[in-house]
Amino acid sequence: MTDLQKNLIAGEWLAGESEIENRNPSDLSDLVGIFAQASADQLEATLDQAQVAQREWAAYGLERKQAVLMNIGNELMARAEELGTLLSREEGKPLAEGKGEVYRAGQFFTYYAAECLRQIGENADSVRPDIEVDVRREAVGVVAIISPWNFPTATASWKIAPALCYGNAVVWKPANITPASAVALTEIIARQDIPKGLFSLVMGSGRSIGQRLVESPKVNAISFTGSVPVGKGIAAAAIQNLTKVQMEMGSKNALAVLDDADLDLAVSLALGGAFGGTGQKCTASSRLVVHAAVHDAFVEKLVAGTQAMKVGHALDAGVQMGPVVSEQQLNENLAYVDLGKTEGAELACGGQRLEMPHEGFYMSPGVFLNTTNDMRINREEMFAPLTSVIKVGSYDEALAVVNDTNFGLTSGIVTQSLARATHFRRNARTGVVTVNLPTAGTDYHVPFGGRGDSSYGPREQGKAAAEFYTTVKTAYISAGKPF
Ligand code: NDP
Repeated sequence: MTDLQKNLIAGEWLAGESEIENRNPSDLSDLVGIFAQASADQLEATLDQAQVAQREWAAYGLERKQAVLMNIGNELMARAEELGTLLSREEGKPLAEGKGEVYRAGQFFTYYAAECLRQIGENADSVRPDIEVDVRREAVGVVAIISPWNFPTATASWKIAPALCYGNAVVWKPANITPASAVALTEIIARQDIPKGLFSLVMGSGRSIGQRLVESPKVNAISFTGSVPVGKGIAAAAIQNLTKVQMEMGSKNALAVLDDADLDLAVSLALGGAFGGTGQKCTASSRLVVHAAVHDAFVEKLVAGTQAMKVGHALDAGVQMGPVVSEQQLNENLAYVDLGKTEGAELACGGQRLEMPHEGFYMSPGVFLNTTNDMRINREEMFAPLTSVIKVGSYDEALAVVNDTNFGLTSGIVTQSLARATHFRRNARTGVVTVNLPTAGTDYHVPFGGRGDSSYGPREQGKAAAEFYTTVKTAYISAGKPF
């Protein structure tokens, strides 16, 4: 990507009012590309065109819409290796994770391609004689999508695919730190049989173009994934225009390891959940709630496994954990390491900045021991390759600790007891619960979202997405005279 990478504004690829450079966090000498920053005028122009294009798109035949989504999905899956390499280069996740993410993004599109053909509606008799009621869902209109950098292609796709499927126009503001993946996905979408301006890419900072987008009365719905403070600001802006809003924000997910757990399984779930994606996942296992009876044995295996993890350049073979996404995020992570020690936690391993042959944002995965659930490291989302062990004396205490958080996205339990697994599944106060599985990793055909500070508004993914991307119309039909 040596040429300036442009925004897609009202159907045209345009340079912006300024440009930013994007560099590979695994190797800062590697320039990923130069990216245009959209202007306020361009945003207005593309929103105007989106309103026109949306009406045309909503009137497309079902199979025509389905073909568009199917083509996007198939191309993403076919190019998973190439686009996954680009994603890993700019975001820093190991190549296998980058490729897997692009492939999964393709599956979102093929899933919603099929959903295009599913007629959603109800028909009923009125309580009044000789009158029928038809309840159908129609597109909301123009949807603003604001996506994060940690899953730059998948998170955007699980929003874009249902938005298009249900007949909406999309104006997409990706995270400015992962623009190359955004341009690659937009190029695929722009080549499809869609009305001019149905899909827009507006790269730029959240504070400038993102804020203007969420304040615009031309936007009918906003889907956001990111941090809690930004989410609250977006909700406040949205309510001024009574714009529909859906938000998925951070979490502080817990994995409970009971006294009857298979410890090798528990350690492997904890390692994957805590350090996959360099810990930069809203579903990361950042609290490990461990029964005292297995605590010492679990900790020994966990620390050994953490120390054995291979950290390195995201594109190098055998690397299990890449760099942190940015210098700012790395500095915040290291500040949390200091905070944990100040709060009295014992850093058993890791948590250090690492020097590598290439200059990048590397740190070693870290484990805190002897922590309590009231420490800030166990209450705030760190988005870091850091995890804390909290020792508990019983299942009841484990459940109480799991639920003692302002967040509520995912939680997991490792146990061989059906009774405890069932009780946990029913009583964990999270949107997603897992049993003998990682707290991270979800399917695309079922709802995803959380409680508390983790989510706001209708669930994402699967058929649940229809709730956000459509609006309900109830029609009453009479023949005009008695039959
Ligand atoms: P942000 O919440 O700042 O960013 C998320 C998205 O929102 C980005 O596209 C960002 O744009 C955009 N944005 C930022 N400010 C505004 C605004 N005022 N109006 C509209 N859009 C805006 O997250 P960060 O990237 O700064 O990450 C900080 C922390 O957030 C992380 O450490 C983590 O704790 C949490 N986070 C959680 C995620 C999750 O999956 N739940 C994902 C990402 C972050 P831009 O990046 O261009 O500024």
